Amino acid sequence: MSVSDNILSIKNDIPDHVKLVAVSKFHPADVVQQAYSVGQRIFGESRMQELEKKYTALPKDIEWHFIGHLQTNKVRTIAPYIHTIHSVDSWKLLSEIDKQASAVGRSICCLLEVHIAQEESKYGLSYDECIRFLSEGLWKDCKHAYIGGLMGMATYTDDKDQIRSEFKGLKLFFDEIKDSYFPEDSRFSELSIGMSGDYLIAIEEGATMIRVGSSIFGEREY
Ligand SMILES: *Cc1c(COP(=O)(O)O)cnc(C)c1O
Repeated sequence: MSVSDNILSIKNDIPDHVKLVAVSKFHPADVVQQAYSVGQRIFGESRMQELEKKYTALPKDIEWHFIGHLQTNKVRTIAPYIHTIHSVDSWKLLSEIDKQASAVGRSICCLLEVHIAQEESKYGLSYDECIRFLSEGLWKDCKHAYIGGLMGMATYTDDKDQIRSEFKGLKLFFDEIKDSYFPEDSRFSELSIGMSGDYLIAIEEGATMIRVGSSIFGEREY
């Protein structure tokens, strides 16, 4: 199947309220263009240089999402156009995004990355850290970076029950956070869970955004 067939078939499988982030990392701009040609407008990238190249080469109505680990010294480069950053896991990063968004007069959606998988990772907040971050309240002073929801990645496993229970846990947490910290804030609305192997489970468990790469573009060559 071609990239455009893959996009259409995934779109056909998912409900309208779920946003498809087409993860184009490691694939060239011309295949992104194929997805674009069948109406795909949201693309996810995890490396700065690659994102910059594609941003420059491709149509300007694309909504670019950053999904990988982001260093604070790189924020300035993407602040003029990035729509959503899925991987915010520190006040240092959030405050830098706020500062750089302010400098270019934009508003940037930030998702807090929560570590839900069993694998060790340097990135993402634990549930406890996430609560601590929110109760400290520094984020409330941000005028240009706003917290639009949560992002999580399940354990890399074939065990569907485990994946489902990790997503379920994050959805419960999302609802608690929404009630406790964002009851009046309609912007806190996104739950970014689900990738090629598990997006149908993620949707059943409450995903509002799925991040799909290889099922659209094929395997990546690193
Ligand atoms: C690469 C990546 C994806 C896409 O993974 P696939 O399994 O190819 O769909 C999704 N989310 C994040 C954070 C990624 O780094």
